[in-house]
Amino acid sequence: MKTSPNAAQPVYVLEGVTKTYPAARALDAIDLTISPGERVAVLGPSGSGKTSLLHVMGGVVPPDTGTATIEGQPLTGLSAGRELAGMVGMIHQQYDLVPHLPVIHNVLAGRLGRWSTMRSLLSLVLPQERNLAVDALEILGISDKINERTSRLSGGEQQRVAMARLLVQAPRVILADEPVASLDPARAEALMLLLNDVADRSNNTVVASLHSVHLTRKYFSRAIGLRRGRMHFDVPVDLLDDGLLNDLYDIEGLDGET
Ligand code: ADP
Ligand code: MG
Repeated sequence: MKTSPNAAQPVYVLEGVTKTYPAARALDAIDLTISPGERVAVLGPSGSGKTSLLHVMGGVVPPDTGTATIEGQPLTGLSAGRELAGMVGMIHQQYDLVPHLPVIHNVLAGRLGRWSTMRSLLSLVLPQERNLAVDALEILGISDKINERTSRLSGGEQQRVAMARLLVQAPRVILADEPVASLDPARAEALMLLLNDVADRSNNTVVASLHSVHLTRKYFSRAIGLRRGRMHFDVPVDLLDDGLLNDLYDIEGLDGET
């Protein structure tokens, strides 16, 4: 088959990425290519390297050896503010909202990477690009809360504020490190639905670590399994079967037992 000249450039290319800490090799020779729009779940026991991988992909931590590029540019060469913020949006378990600020400020925080310091400061008094926040909150169905103190919102509404912030940030890639770890099953499902909607709107690439096989099968197209920093499997979710998972999560002491 001929390669189309318009074939999409991969979003991520990781080659031989290794990250070693004094007590552990967090990532061991990881090769990974991700295409635009892919939804990649990162599975693996605690300590297997999931967070380290997301940190490398987010440009937070440089690899010791190997290369990691985003849209062809080395991640380590991007400036932490503007350049990275336009490319990568991160969601954390606690959403990182500022509770005492009105919703609008938390949503517009998604723009901070693109604004000058002056504009960011001015925005605290006179919200800049207010229309962006309004649109995002409308999409998420909570535009009536725009001036509400964020701490007054329910947990579900705060999830939506965090998603609205992602919408205004409009990154190419969304990285989420165990975004549903602290949520009950209904909230976890709701968050994954919102995340999926937000990602669909701009055909975002999503890479998320999680422990739920059910959510992986439902919301992701591809699953990679990490074990002791190594790529244990990398499969379309249809091929994710009990054999692979049992092997991935097996307790260390049981290795080799039959
Ligand atoms: P996971 O997210 O799958 O639980 P991590 O990427 O957090 O795995 O950790 C992988 C390994 O690297 C673990 O052994 C962990 O203790 C180690 N590690 C991760 N970050 C650091 C750090 N900042 N300093 C020292 N060791 C670390
Ligand atoms: Mg982790």
